[in-house]
Amino acid sequence: MIAHQAGRLIVDLDAIIANYRELARRAAPAQAAAALKADAYGIGLAPVAQALHRAGCRTFFVALIEEGMALRRLLPAAEIFVLHGLAGLDRDGRRALIAENLRPVLNSLTDIEAWRESGGKGGALHVDTGMARLGLSAAEAEILIAQPALIAGLEIDLVMSHLACGDLLHHPQNEEQLAAFRRFLDASPWAKTSRPRLSLAASGGIFLGADYAFDLVRPGIALYGAAPLSDRPNPLRPALSLQAKILQTREIDFDTPVGYGATHRARRATRLATIGAGYADGLLRSLGNRGVFYLENRPLPIVGRVSMDLITLDIGELPPDRGRIGDWVEIIGKAQSLDDLAAAAGTNAYEILTRLGPRWERHYIGGQGTP
Ligand SMILES: *Cc1c(COP(=O)(O)O)cnc(C)c1O
Repeated sequence: MIAHQAGRLIVDLDAIIANYRELARRAAPAQAAAALKADAYGIGLAPVAQALHRAGCRTFFVALIEEGMALRRLLPAAEIFVLHGLAGLDRDGRRALIAENLRPVLNSLTDIEAWRESGGKGGALHVDTGMARLGLSAAEAEILIAQPALIAGLEIDLVMSHLACGDLLHHPQNEEQLAAFRRFLDASPWAKTSRPRLSLAASGGIFLGADYAFDLVRPGIALYGAAPLSDRPNPLRPALSLQAKILQTREIDFDTPVGYGATHRARRATRLATIGAGYADGLLRSLGNRGVFYLENRPLPIVGRVSMDLITLDIGELPPDRGRIGDWVEIIGKAQSLDDLAAAAGTNAYEILTRLGPRWERHYIGGQGTP
């Protein structure tokens, strides 16, 4: 084993499968896809995709064509949608979509026209209903409603939209977006005759009620055990454990300055431990003098700033025989959930996961179960 990894990320594929099945059960009779953009949220595309496929998942969403091509090599028969659509793709890129049977998410009238010119068939149509981010704007949607010939013959597989506030059970914008999605569908006769599947909900949307499920839901973050609704108890299973090793310990006196900028001074004589991971490994600088890691459920406060590759912890409360060089400190696990760490860092679970980077040694356990 290579000695100088930042630490280890232990991924419980059985928990990811259990979460997928729970999300699929709640969404039924709608089908459950999975959003695997950004290397499966930084967890690792191949093991996650294969585990989900074994659990029965057959439809996947990625952001980039490169991600779609990587997923196609893993799952030759899966249905793969590429969220960024045709924007930024040259002729070769559009050819590659067709050759690899990747389905673009068409986000504009320009995308629709380009897809037709490329000789493409299928794909998803993304209608913006309240994010002002990607998807047909309200004005473009009106044009498409008035001129359905623009989309005729393209054999669209899916009409989708995305909720801006899907993680909040009672946010009024959820109902507004649901109504806007329905208005678009009702005004689009082709959507009744050619019967594309319909999709609105991501992780949070699955918990907003049956009205939001339509034919296909697209969870991402909830697969890893993060709370789908930020204002409700979390029904999912934690799937991740993140740990780093103690590289060095030292005894310090009262008033000893710690770390860059000397932003912490010891309030008493204590013991410190330095672990070998820092902001280059996605442990955000905002955790400095604020976050807490754990050893055997005992809290170890971060003292001083987070460095690029190092973090210093106050281990003065540990028994003297605990907190030795080589011991594993828990960053995410039993004592601290992914959401807890994100809250301490002032961000969300998505940013924590996608920033972890390649220096963590990834261990995948389980995932062999048959559907
Ligand atoms: C990322 C993404 C998802 C998955 O979102 P989660 O909140 O992680 O469940 C679904 N749909 C679209 C369009 C996305 O961009």
